Amino acid sequence: MNKKNNIDIEFILVEPSHSGNIGACARAIKNMGFEKLAIVKPRKTITEEAFHRAKSAKDILENAVIYESFDQAIEEKNLILATSARERTIPWPTFYIDEISEEIKGELKSEKTKSAIIFGREDNGLSNEELQKCHIHLVIPTSDEYSSLNLSHALQLVAFEIRKIYLDNNVPISEEKDLVSNLENEKLLEHLMEVLKKIDFYDPKSSKQVKTRIERLIKKIRLDKMEMGILRGFLSKIMDFEK
Ligand code: SAH
Repeated sequence: MNKKNNIDIEFILVEPSHSGNIGACARAIKNMGFEKLAIVKPRKTITEEAFHRAKSAKDILENAVIYESFDQAIEEKNLILATSARERTIPWPTFYIDEISEEIKGELKSEKTKSAIIFGREDNGLSNEELQKCHIHLVIPTSDEYSSLNLSHALQLVAFEIRKIYLDNNVPISEEKDLVSNLENEKLLEHLMEVLKKIDFYDPKSSKQVKTRIERLIKKIRLDKMEMGILRGFLSKIMDFEK
């Protein structure tokens, strides 16, 4: 089967420290019919070893996008999936990689969706702050005794599951929603926090988790452009009212 995927997904590695792993990730991406590799602040340059491990996926390595920061990598994206081997303090919407909801599968197939799948550092994964900037967490159900996979092995398994979604004609493409970008969501969060402070509902010193919970709410409801316009307008009115 020689089939390329139309799914426009960027596979993003955050601060990888082994050049060989980067090469192996490039190979996994190409094997599964995808094209886009991106790296946030690589800790090693892309060396000979990376090209050696990439084999016939050298083009993927050569075309890899390098981002200066995590925020820059996800700014334009509107469906951001983070992979993690560990449970975190504030639970986020989480799926096993082979149990992604039908809604998300349909959105992944849509040309309107700008999606990213994020992979963490080999030594300590993704930070809580980074994970909280993502819509959904994906877990590969590994052994409790030793849950952490090699970076490129994790990417290989995730890419295979996404390929299956693409090849499955029973998953309808879902294009109803014009989802907002992460940058717009970040601006909404700041606007909302500003209003909540102004009306004395929120004090950053005493209620640290409130902001995280509101961030989770925003990620969960996944606003479209029209809904975002209404909400931002509504918040601006409250700010004017309080003056
Ligand atoms: N020691 C790190 C794991 C790093 S493994 C930690 O404890 O967080 C490097 C990356 O591979 C992870 O950040 C994640 O993106 C991916 N990964 C490894 N094992 C995984 C698993 N079981 N489920 C989902 N992603 C996994």
